[in-house]
Amino acid sequence: MESQITTIAVLGAGTMGRGIAHASALAGLATHLYDPFPAALKQAESTIHRNLAKGVEIKKVDPERAERAISCLHFHDELAGAVAAADLIIEAVPEDMGLKLRTFQEVVRSCPQHALLASNTSALSITEMAAATGRPERFAGMHFFNPVHVMKLIELVRGLATSAETLEALRAVGERLGKEVVVVNEAPGFVTTRINALIGNEAFRMLQEGVASAEDIDKALKLGLNHPMGPFELVDLVGLDVRLSILEFLHRTLGEAYRPNQILVQHVRAGRLGRKVGRGVYCYGEAGERLR
Ligand code: NAD
Repeated sequence: MESQITTIAVLGAGTMGRGIAHASALAGLATHLYDPFPAALKQAESTIHRNLAKGVEIKKVDPERAERAISCLHFHDELAGAVAAADLIIEAVPEDMGLKLRTFQEVVRSCPQHALLASNTSALSITEMAAATGRPERFAGMHFFNPVHVMKLIELVRGLATSAETLEALRAVGERLGKEVVVVNEAPGFVTTRINALIGNEAFRMLQEGVASAEDIDKALKLGLNHPMGPFELVDLVGLDVRLSILEFLHRTLGEAYRPNQILVQHVRAGRLGRKVGRGVYCYGEAGERLR
């Protein structure tokens, strides 16, 4: 089945969609990136060009390969055109089940019968999305990590009806994108989101209890446990609002261990949403540099 996958459509040109499109184009696949907001597409195009140029500058990417990647990219502000010739459609729209269901219902009206369908959701039910498409055996989760052009892992998530052929085809595509793949049976938060949410919540709990400062908790996890980023640095990058909504979902589905800590809730209420607004657990300057 993999040899048939030469054209990929990516839905949503935000943080994740543009990264997935970058990886797909760099692998030489015809890549159609869709977003209903032209400004998001423009920003995605310039980010992909900048990241490819950086790859060339640090000699990670051949200049010819970068040129070819650019020629593989197509931008669409209308969904039907983006998916019309796609062998695989990867959805990366905001983490809202209603929006994802509506998006996939629209996709199946316009995409080829043979197309495989995947969602980059961080935690939501693959089986529920698959059911809405009427082709659940051709549907799976394909959970990439931020920044996609750097991070090595894809969690492939098997829904109730995902076929073995679909998983194998998606594994092959993932490897073609230069990623390592793990297969996870559907469960709230899969492996990575579930563990990460627990660590991040515990860090806020320690802050609340006065166990240590945010800086020292981050330092302890980086230098003592070899985490590349501390939990507060990471939540500032991910967005405290995004983390809160994941914890609320895991709390509903997995129980008390995931009840969002009060300090996190207060930060979100105060609008301290992380790097994207210049203030989260830490403060950031105009150029994104950490102030304290
Ligand atoms: P984002 O907000 O950066 O991007 C979402 C994009 O979707 C925006 O460009 C927006 O214009 C577009 N959009 C809005 N409505 C749309 C629609 N109806 N159809 C198509 N596009 C639409 O979000 P993101 O961080 O890229 O997250 C996307 C998905 O990836 C979410 O499900 C999220 O949980 C998941 N995810 C995020 C991360 C992360 O670190 N940011 C990591 C793994 C998975």
